[in-house]
Amino acid sequence: MDRQSQFSYRCGACGRCCHNQVISLNPAELLAIARTSGIATDAARARYTERRGSLLRFRGNGGCAALDGARCSIHPGRPLACRLYPLGLERTPDGDRFIRLEPAAGSAGQYGVDGAVGGYLRDQGVDALLEMAGRYRPLIRTMRDRIETLVDFSAIEPREFWRRAIAEALRESNFDANRLIDALFDPDGVSATRESVESTIAVHLSILHEMIASTNDPAELATAAVLLAISLGYSPVEAII
Ligand code: SF4
Repeated sequence: MDRQSQFSYRCGACGRCCHNQVISLNPAELLAIARTSGIATDAARARYTERRGSLLRFRGNGGCAALDGARCSIHPGRPLACRLYPLGLERTPDGDRFIRLEPAAGSAGQYGVDGAVGGYLRDQGVDALLEMAGRYRPLIRTMRDRIETLVDFSAIEPREFWRRAIAEALRESNFDANRLIDALFDPDGVSATRESVESTIAVHLSILHEMIASTNDPAELATAAVLLAISLGYSPVEAII
């Protein structure tokens, strides 16, 4: 589906879609959650996420960590996947496409055709959050460029180098220390602004650029590039030289 495709959806506020999902988070989404919750990003990361801040956390009963009864306690700052639902976003080299997802079992939501995908996205605040998240994408290229200055790929097998980076980025526990990932998923920890999402992103990006330029560990850079690509909805290939 594209933005002109016929589509509408009326949420039944049953909370069924807020169970047993796998929802990636990027730094802009984590910031939006923190600002909505009135807490700093390190506290939001601890309360609502796992995998170093890049995944929304679901409790043992299957419910999202932000679910309060059948209500989303962070609704104004909810992640992109929650705004898009019941649409999914496919990020391809030719642009973004949208797919209609299967409804959650027992969902009270109602599908219709009395609107268009574009209008639905606008009403859910998808475009604004996509724009803010998109400001982090150039960092992937910056990290790739820095890696190229540090690694002699005629002496090091590139596939093995990137295989390790992908495995490390996807590790859910016992991961290696990584200053760049810590900084990506804790904007308040490095920028100390506690201002709006937009203002904090500007300061955050500037600090991240400085950190990348001064990082001499290619494995640290590669793992951070892969995790950032995944968090933004791209394949790990986006990070690979
Ligand atoms: S963040 Fe909110 S809308 Fe998204 S899964 Fe959690 S409770 Fe549901």
